Amino acid sequence: METFSGEGYGIARIKAERSDNNYSYVIWCTKTSGCVVIDPNDPVPVLNFIRDNGLSVKYIIDTHCHPDHILGNDPVLKVTLGKILVHPLGFDLVSPRSATVKDGEVIKFGEQEIKVAYAPGHTPEHILLLMDGEAFTGDTLFLSGVGNLRHGGVAEDLFDTLETKVKTLPDGTRIWPGHDYAEANLRFAVEVEPRNPDAKKKLADVKKLVKKGKDPEPTTIAEEKTYNPFLRCGSTEISKALSKKNPEWKGGSPFSVFTELRRLRDGWK
Ligand SMILES: [Zn+2]
Repeated sequence: METFSGEGYGIARIKAERSDNNYSYVIWCTKTSGCVVIDPNDPVPVLNFIRDNGLSVKYIIDTHCHPDHILGNDPVLKVTLGKILVHPLGFDLVSPRSATVKDGEVIKFGEQEIKVAYAPGHTPEHILLLMDGEAFTGDTLFLSGVGNLRHGGVAEDLFDTLETKVKTLPDGTRIWPGHDYAEANLRFAVEVEPRNPDAKKKLADVKKLVKKGKDPEPTTIAEEKTYNPFLRCGSTEISKALSKKNPEWKGGSPFSVFTELRRLRDGWK
């Protein structure tokens, strides 16, 4: 568990043990101690953090409703009079004590606000949670990767979300993903764009941290654009590498690069 600070708020990043490197987040208003919990996985460290810091939970917010992102909903719900907030398409997938939030809606806790951006692709009900300078991206965007399409995903939607909702975020926006897949994602990035110095450097940095048992610091949109292959579908070097790997792949549009990258990453170890 690590904590980070912003202007008038704090962020706790909690990695759940016995999970697929899931991150849950607690964001609290430093003035009022009101907080929200994003994607609770293991409820125990989340509830401990809330208790130890005297926080009061206003809402639980699920970026989407895959089981590992809603696992801790109900135990955390017990310590709040508030509700679970999900996109309308996720409403039937969580506890009846929930309410819906749509694109553009603002969630208030204490003196802080989170804006909802609808981001379908990984799942139809996926949302991004945005604060000034922060983006909680769930399974839409990871460090050097994006969510898979295996459980209800649609490639066209994810590509469109990345182009219109993710790449358009201000450069300095910090990224808070739903999982830590950094090392594997960066190894994949180097494989599909071997001459990209930023991908190589980031991989070396992350490997050093992993050796020390540490997680990477949150990255920014500007950084992700330099090495995340799924944000670089116009790169000719990536196209060349994909053609080499799969001579039957005809190439062409950035979207065809995206789907080929996704296909390769799915079968890649
Ligand atoms: Zn998911």
